[in-house]
Amino acid sequence: MSKVRIYTLAKDLGVDNAKMLEILDSLGVSYKSVSSTIEEDTVGLIKEMLAEEAASGTGAATSTDTTEADAAQTPTPQNISSQNTPTQAAPAPATAQSVPQPAVTATAEREPEAPVNTQPELPHRAPVVTIMGHVDHGKTSLLDYIRKTKVAAKEAGGITQHVGAFEARTSKGKIVFIDTPGHEAFTTIRARGANVADIAIIVIAADDSLMPQTREAIAHAQAAKVPMLVAVNKIDLPQADPERVKTDLTTLNLVPEEYGGDTIVVPVSARTGEGVEDLLEYISLTAELEDLRADPKGSFSGVVIESRVDRQAGVLATVMVQEGTLHVGDFLVVGEGYGKIKAMTDSNGGRIKEAGPSTPVQVLGFSEAPASGEKVVSAKNEHAAREVIAQRASDRRDAENARTQRKKTLEEMMGP
Ligand code: GDP
Ligand code: MG
Repeated sequence: MSKVRIYTLAKDLGVDNAKMLEILDSLGVSYKSVSSTIEEDTVGLIKEMLAEEAASGTGAATSTDTTEADAAQTPTPQNISSQNTPTQAAPAPATAQSVPQPAVTATAEREPEAPVNTQPELPHRAPVVTIMGHVDHGKTSLLDYIRKTKVAAKEAGGITQHVGAFEARTSKGKIVFIDTPGHEAFTTIRARGANVADIAIIVIAADDSLMPQTREAIAHAQAAKVPMLVAVNKIDLPQADPERVKTDLTTLNLVPEEYGGDTIVVPVSARTGEGVEDLLEYISLTAELEDLRADPKGSFSGVVIESRVDRQAGVLATVMVQEGTLHVGDFLVVGEGYGKIKAMTDSNGGRIKEAGPSTPVQVLGFSEAPASGEKVVSAKNEHAAREVIAQRASDRRDAENARTQRKKTLEEMMGP
């Protein structure tokens, strides 16, 4: 009986992986991940289901890349609320009376399956990936290899500045890699309680297997609940023993797929490039399942990846845009400081005027270097920025006073 991998089948049948898993679920077929294999028998059933769906015109469409055009076709909040039953309808604000409501006939002509009470779907965004692992296991080499082969070479006046992140172009779309040295990777995976990275790659050298920082990296990824992929590096070495790494991983309850578990283990060599394409493919597959989305039109928020002071330019901060869009001229608030963006460059060193979700940008305009992991928001103007800061300072003082008060009360209770 021959078997077929789920993602291969999805590709062959022209549906996305999420859809394929949905179908498998409805058929009651068990799987570990999209790289699991299923029986040839099942394929026939899946094809039948897809054919049926296509015939009845429901849900068979793939849901990859929601473009803005898609979003425009999705019902607007106004006509969504007009589809609500009266009991669900929220009391309309007085001003709504004067707003012309869409004609009932217009809504009645809509697809019966049009989602009711749901927000229009946000566009997909690129995955943000962090690489962690024991020292000398090849993190930097792997990033260098990907950067060398996947980042469009660009003459940026010959200056290659370290910006702590870069964007790789793959056949499956953009992947953003956070490129911070050593322990800073742990800060960027989970900064201020919010994840910066969507996916963690744990690099393990095939000639060394699990080491203290490997375990630490795995623990961090697990604590942050970030999906993990294991890259077993240095497979070009004669003494490489990838099978041993896989066996060792099972001792941490990370059971490789080949052993019936759901941990994806990809053998690679940062030296020869072997397996790197597979790794990128698995990253894209994982990202697809995570269904990462962000609103480029929403209010901006981001995180500081790194910052430094350049003697000539001043403070240079790399900011990862998470939501909304950043523009030159915007006011940014970090902690109790703010700055106005004087200039912005992409991770290739090219000047840009705006940047949407999952874009790392180097920003010029802060007066002081913000710390890695700090959250960044924007303000309409300088006045608004100062107000946000004043509020934060006052909140902080309140918290401090409350602490002092608690301490005093406690001391009084304890007596002299
Ligand atoms: P990091 O500390 O995890 O960033 O590790 P590095 O990327 O600095 O690599 C440590 C050493 O391992 C360097 O001497 C690299 O040249 C070497 N190295 C990294 N990847 C590979 C690989 O795939 N094959 C071989 N043979 N050596 C590698
Ligand atoms: Mg390194």
